[in-house]
Amino acid sequence: MKKNIVILGSTGSIGTQTLEVIDALDNNFNVTALAAGSNISLLSEQIEKYKPKSVSVKTNEDAQKLKFKYPDLNVYWGEEGLSELAQIEDANLIMVALSGKHGLKPTLKAIENKKDIALANKETLVMAGDMVVHKAKEYGVKILPVDSEHSAIFQCLNNQKALKYLILTSSGGPFRNKSYEEIKKADIKSVLNHPNWSMGKKITVDSATLMNKGLEVIEAHHLFNIDYDNIKVVIHPQSYIHSAVEYCDGSIIAQIGKPSMHIPIQYALTYPDRLEGIETESFDFTKAVKFEFYEPDYDKFPSLKLAIEAGKCGGTATTCLNAANEESVLSFLAGKIKFSDIYDITKKVYDSYKPILNPSIEQILSEDDKIRKQTIELINSIVGVK
Ligand code: MG
Repeated sequence: MKKNIVILGSTGSIGTQTLEVIDALDNNFNVTALAAGSNISLLSEQIEKYKPKSVSVKTNEDAQKLKFKYPDLNVYWGEEGLSELAQIEDANLIMVALSGKHGLKPTLKAIENKKDIALANKETLVMAGDMVVHKAKEYGVKILPVDSEHSAIFQCLNNQKALKYLILTSSGGPFRNKSYEEIKKADIKSVLNHPNWSMGKKITVDSATLMNKGLEVIEAHHLFNIDYDNIKVVIHPQSYIHSAVEYCDGSIIAQIGKPSMHIPIQYALTYPDRLEGIETESFDFTKAVKFEFYEPDYDKFPSLKLAIEAGKCGGTATTCLNAANEESVLSFLAGKIKFSDIYDITKKVYDSYKPILNPSIEQILSEDDKIRKQTIELINSIVGVK
């Protein structure tokens, strides 16, 4: 029987690669619904090719245009549109490939409607990990990781009781070999030029500050129920070892593959099966590239340290970290602030924040909102002074 898939974020990097995986395995999946932001031309192509029953877009205006063009299609819009798609009755799996804060609410809605989730949006777990994981358990919902490191761990982890360490690998980003002074002055173009991975803009900026790795430590803590002290970060510039687990008997199991998102996306879609999809060429060990490993430089990349600190603090500390970082990244991408301001602003907002330790979902959402406003105010005050 075919699996019915809903893709939230279908025109983004993970969304388009999800559709490529589906193309290669098209006897196995139906595309039931697609949600996009404002890339209506690409969404229209996807509608014509995959014939979903429902779509959702960012604005009512775009929704009306699509409704006019495709009268038989159910067209939704805005935050409510995403929630609608997350609870479509015949959906078997919801791919959450939205950027930043937009992932949380539809993920919760999908869980409440007992839909399994392929989670590409790590911010959902950084904002509200305890709540999301607890709810998923309560409703018997699987959260299948799409983030390559977490997919790697998921594939290696067959004995939770014997787990000692998670080893999260990081390419080190585009500035691994740059000096602190050079990094501080980095422009948008060099920040967006990641050596190994092609990704959306927000995550690419996070990869340059290594905040991405910090968010992934928090994500791993929630997904695999492991203490922060038992998560190690290792710089591995070749990005072939996607992450590893170490068991109490000293055995380490790592997942190896080419740096391509198709593999983790496909595994989340086909789990527990493995199918022959896009990646068919074998990794040739005899022609193997050199595998290097280094300790992360926490002084050069203080965002990584800050994220781990927020994780250890728990509660809404990570909600604050995520909100301040995301608003700073968006301001950097808009050309408002310098690259080094991303960390400085995030740190300033974080340091002045008093976290709530066992927050409700309403508290998380209102804290998130409050912190974003504070961050934008701080940015505006800095920009005004300059
Ligand atoms: Mg990752």
